[in-house]
Amino acid sequence: MTDVIVIGGGVIGLSIARELSSSGKETIVLEKNERAGDVTSSRNSGVIHAGIYYPENFLKTKLCVHGNRLIYEYAKQKKINHKKYGKFIIASNKTELLNLEAIFNQGKKNNVEISKVEKEKVLENNPGLIFLGALYSPSSGVIDVPEYVTALEGDIQHSGGLISLRTSFLNAKKKKDKFIISCLAEEEFTIESKYLINCSGLSNELTLKNIEDFPEDKIYKNYYAKGHYFKYSGKSPFSNLIYPVSGQHSLGIHVGFDLAGGMRFGPDVEFINEIDYSFNESLKSKFIESISQYWPEINTTKLHPDYTGIRPKITKPNEKMKDFSIQTFADHGIKNLINLQGIESPGLTSSLAIGKFVTNLL
Ligand SMILES: Cc1cc2nc3c(=O)[nH]c(=O)nc-3n(C[C@H](O)[C@H](O)[C@H](O)COP(=O)(O)OP(=O)(O)OC[C@H]3O[C@@H](n4cnc5c(N)ncnc54)[C@H](O)[C@@H]3O)c2cc1C
Repeated sequence: MTDVIVIGGGVIGLSIARELSSSGKETIVLEKNERAGDVTSSRNSGVIHAGIYYPENFLKTKLCVHGNRLIYEYAKQKKINHKKYGKFIIASNKTELLNLEAIFNQGKKNNVEISKVEKEKVLENNPGLIFLGALYSPSSGVIDVPEYVTALEGDIQHSGGLISLRTSFLNAKKKKDKFIISCLAEEEFTIESKYLINCSGLSNELTLKNIEDFPEDKIYKNYYAKGHYFKYSGKSPFSNLIYPVSGQHSLGIHVGFDLAGGMRFGPDVEFINEIDYSFNESLKSKFIESISQYWPEINTTKLHPDYTGIRPKITKPNEKMKDFSIQTFADHGIKNLINLQGIESPGLTSSLAIGKFVTNLL
């Protein structure tokens, strides 16, 4: 018998478990893989976002803005490698200029620090870019995700929590005031818990089908939106994150960095039917076309396949962006169950804020 079972040891499950175990709840994270944070949490841009793009009344906005502040503080405190690079959002044509204005207004509504900047300011440390207008977001940066995951794990263990690796959640039944949870590690076993929190990311639909009495109409369908990254060998001419004006399902093929200063481009967006991380090298020409619009000097021989990631979307390809979904008893009718779905970008940035938010819900 334990207080809380968290399904999924990505940055979301770990952040929630960290907050709960530090507040005195006996917490166990079930993670089916050999290591925590090995799925979507490791297949992203590693960018600490500011919270500019999302509607002001979205949970996403609130949690991203709060999470941005928390993650910088945490990174400093735990000596996690990170850097506040600052980000320029650039528009390359007239339509994008209009969109840039809309992004600026949204950023202001969200109370995020953002400014319109002169071309010279952008080009000072980012030579060779072609664009018509730009915005600057000083609070955007990059964090070393593996170091972040290790720090969260350390905190959980320090406050007596447990991360049970190679342990799959199979199903849960509610019996009076507790959940009876079946798991598979080396063998099958059950554990009882007062609270159950689902953060199983891309596997959410399956997890929810295995929670007894969870209403089917409250399960969001997962739409897998795959993204590719190409790395750029050699020295980067850019000192800031460079984002073109965003598309409907992503923030565009942008310039990002690892913390060793290596530069990469991505991610693109492709909706797929099954989880598949293979790399489609033929996308190189599409990437070159897109990058050349703002950086015509690109040396295409320096662009090499890097990795892919899959966004756990609950938004259909032609639908307007949905908010993070964090369901409680009021939504699904099961007491002491919290269910998180659609935690796509900016989930990494928001993770510590989500930890606090869910703890408050409990
Ligand atoms: C291409 C891409 C770029 C992104 N860029 C950014 C960015 O720059 N900044 C940002 O803030 N966010 C970004 N994100 C979003 C961010 O990566 C996610 O929001 C975040 O990683 C979600 O974490 P999670 O813990 O919910 O999911 P996951 O990391 O997928 O964790 C879920 C865990 O549950 C486990 N699990 C599943 N089923 C079971 C089971 N039955 N039993 C036990 N364990 C189970 C899995 O093994 C997994 O470890 C990006 C995402 C993608 C795909």
